[in-house]
Amino acid sequence: MLKRILIANRGEVAVRIIRACRELGIETVAIYSEADKEALHVRLADRAVCIGPAKMSKSYLNIKNIIETACLTGCDSIHPGFGFLSENAHFAQICEEIGLKWIGPSKEMITLMGNKSKAKETMEKAGVPVVPGSNGVLKDEKQAEKIAKQIGYPVILKASSGGGGKGIRIVHEENELKGAFRLVKQEAKNSFNDDAIYLEKFIENPRHIEVQLLADEHGNVVSLGERDCSIQRNNQKMIEETPSSILSEKQRQKMSKVAVNAMKEIGYQNVGTIEFLVDKDRNYYFMEMNTRLQVEHPITEAITGIDIVKEQIKIASGKELEFTQKDITFHGHSMECRINAENPFKNFMPSPGKITGLHFPGGNGIRVDTAIYEGYTIPQCYDAMIAKLIVHGKDREESIAKMKSALGELVIEGIETNRDFLYQILENKKFLSNDYDTSFIQKEMLNQ
Ligand code: ADP
Ligand code: ADP
Ligand code: MG
Repeated sequence: MLKRILIANRGEVAVRIIRACRELGIETVAIYSEADKEALHVRLADRAVCIGPAKMSKSYLNIKNIIETACLTGCDSIHPGFGFLSENAHFAQICEEIGLKWIGPSKEMITLMGNKSKAKETMEKAGVPVVPGSNGVLKDEKQAEKIAKQIGYPVILKASSGGGGKGIRIVHEENELKGAFRLVKQEAKNSFNDDAIYLEKFIENPRHIEVQLLADEHGNVVSLGERDCSIQRNNQKMIEETPSSILSEKQRQKMSKVAVNAMKEIGYQNVGTIEFLVDKDRNYYFMEMNTRLQVEHPITEAITGIDIVKEQIKIASGKELEFTQKDITFHGHSMECRINAENPFKNFMPSPGKITGLHFPGGNGIRVDTAIYEGYTIPQCYDAMIAKLIVHGKDREESIAKMKSALGELVIEGIETNRDFLYQILENKKFLSNDYDTSFIQKEMLNQ
């Protein structure tokens, strides 16, 4: 078993990993930036080392400093969490080369599946239906125009290295394509330091449904079922739930099977998620793979009873999965709301600052994953997500009732949050009657 893990992240995911380590009897080393001296993960870890200034490139993305810290503190492994360096193949490679176990898939897998256009090619070869589009990266605008004409508008341009909903643009007609091409290329270069972009058919009114996978280093792969993440703003998830209420049992099993077989085919190891788009006729298309732990993993933990972070660490320790697909059963329904420090009524402007008053809900079937506390000041330089509220009920109706009760009880003073906005979604008739898709927030909540 691994003995001492450096956690190359911050916020609630760093805290989540520390807790898993503590349960497993593994020591933790936290890293932090100068802006995070007072952060919870710093206080909870066995040791914490300041690795640089607030600026991400100088701290949480500073590979050299992170590796040095891991070596100096005698760590045997690195957990990258999500965001930051979690899908950085170069970082994974350096870890492997100097003998630090990377808690994630191999550098080859990250290169293959972390790159969205390459992943699509690979999945297509493995027999998975993919969103039709350019086979690989676009050479120039001309090629984009040609392919768009063939598959028909609307199309969507996406950064191959994109993530977090960034580097994506819908193109409705031909005369918008040139401008959009340049914009996405520029954004891809600025945000991901890689200007490779690709094009695919824009699937209208789809649901985002993803399959959670666990794969050990001995060839065993299991699916932990799906998550429906269709409630999004700007292609970024806000509410997730499982099971998805639009899938028949047959279709659920089919999608899981396709995902598991694809992982076996490519020899994937550790945790991963296959994201699909499901159109109104229930056709499903592979969209991308996340070669890491995901934000919304707790809802799967709720209905399966499996601790995904602990499994991830056990897998990286070389252990074989202690269960097979047959052993995995699903109980009830779970839902997550992402609580963000932002003002929905001012175009979701980030709202960092000091938390002057705080009360989290609790009780039967309520879980809060967070790194904030009363008196803590949320720095402005990082992600706006400050907490995740997760409920577990016997069915969707009970989950929604629990979530409304929990949101009603939640108090976060001193900053603005999206709490009331989330509550309004839970009261929306279309949401309640399951009549929604990925454009729900934009159309129903923002009237755009
Ligand atoms: P998930 O697919 O797990 O829901 P998201 O795509 O919402 O994850 O991203 C998880 C977190 O990591 C978010 O805080 C997001 O801002 C950040 N993130 C995701 N991808 C990237 C990336 N390529 N570069 C920087 N940050 C990212
Ligand atoms: P990220 O890496 O940022 O998560 P994704 O490729 O997963 O990017 O896309 C994010 C979201 O954008 C999806 O969940 C979906 O709502 C929307 N989206 C992406 N591709 C398409 C598409 N081809 N058609 C319709 N919507 C799409
Ligand atoms: Mg995605």
